[in-house]
Amino acid sequence: MTRAYPFRALAALLLLSLAGLASGAELGQLPADGTAYRNAPVALPFDIAALKANWRKRIQAIKAKGILPIIDIESSFNTMKLDLRSLSRSMDDEGIALVAYSSNSDGRKWSDGAARVVSADPWRYMPTTNAGIYPAWTEAPLEFLEATKQHALADGYPLLGEFEFRHYPSPRQFRRGETNRDVHIPINGPLGHDLFSFAEKTGIPFQIHYEIEDTLLPALEEMLRRYPKAKLIWCHLAQIRYASRSTIYGPDYVRRLIETYPNLYFDVAFGGPDSVYPGSREHHARIWDRAKGGILKEWSDLISHYPWRFLAAMDLGGDRQDQVLEHAQRLRMFLSYLPENAREIVAYKAAWKLLFGEDL
Ligand SMILES: [Zn+2]
Repeated sequence: MTRAYPFRALAALLLLSLAGLASGAELGQLPADGTAYRNAPVALPFDIAALKANWRKRIQAIKAKGILPIIDIESSFNTMKLDLRSLSRSMDDEGIALVAYSSNSDGRKWSDGAARVVSADPWRYMPTTNAGIYPAWTEAPLEFLEATKQHALADGYPLLGEFEFRHYPSPRQFRRGETNRDVHIPINGPLGHDLFSFAEKTGIPFQIHYEIEDTLLPALEEMLRRYPKAKLIWCHLAQIRYASRSTIYGPDYVRRLIETYPNLYFDVAFGGPDSVYPGSREHHARIWDRAKGGILKEWSDLISHYPWRFLAAMDLGGDRQDQVLEHAQRLRMFLSYLPENAREIVAYKAAWKLLFGEDL
């Protein structure tokens, strides 16, 4: 059964309001062509101060047009297949100020993909280390993590990409039968300790993909207790693939985590209200109020109370890097339901503060 959600009308309105946003000098030059990153000279370590000056201008330029800027804290790309000019242009069209750009490592222990992209377009992308995904992270995790740590420090990455500890295949991977994305690496095993302790020592934030299930929660909490200074972004707030496996997690549980662990953050990359996980045939983005429209009050109250702990994210992936429009509109729809006090913080201010320790 299909229903007309009020979300759709809202998305259309938002689209209209964005139509006036055209590419201009203050938004930063567009890269010369789609493959400009391939031969871009990589200048390392990153000159973060110079990049931040560009990024601030871009955020201001979007605000000046009356549009809420967005920092996408979590997206990963297959850089070899990237059309950079098209991605940059769609960011401008949708008011996406910055994307934390994490590159697939193409099966190698390290790839300079993000550095090349930042070099080709120093206005739109925040360099983020390679995504911790199949095959590099799952087949040769020690080498991958070692290379990540080395480059994070030597090159000056402000953020570590998403490490998959427990990951079910995404809906698209599930339909394609890609079982290699069914990942289970114990978060409290040697790799987890190595990563958490590195993050704690260096202060560089990192991201995890960790399915929400009762049996997985104690190990994560063990790590949070052991490494209280590690800045962790737990991606995909309230994305539960199988309800029967998750009876503990909810707004009260997340509130307790937030109040107990001062360096724990959540990103809000999840599907729309109609999105169904094919493995369970359930609506896995549990934040939406599917009966009344909008988002559930308990979640909205929690985010309103602790807005600095929640980060906007589009979760573009290697197989959907051309879907900026769809993902940006869904994210804006979600943001539009947040209480006024939280909206700007979640959209971009919390990310800036987490990465750079500054208020925007
Ligand atoms: Zn993820």
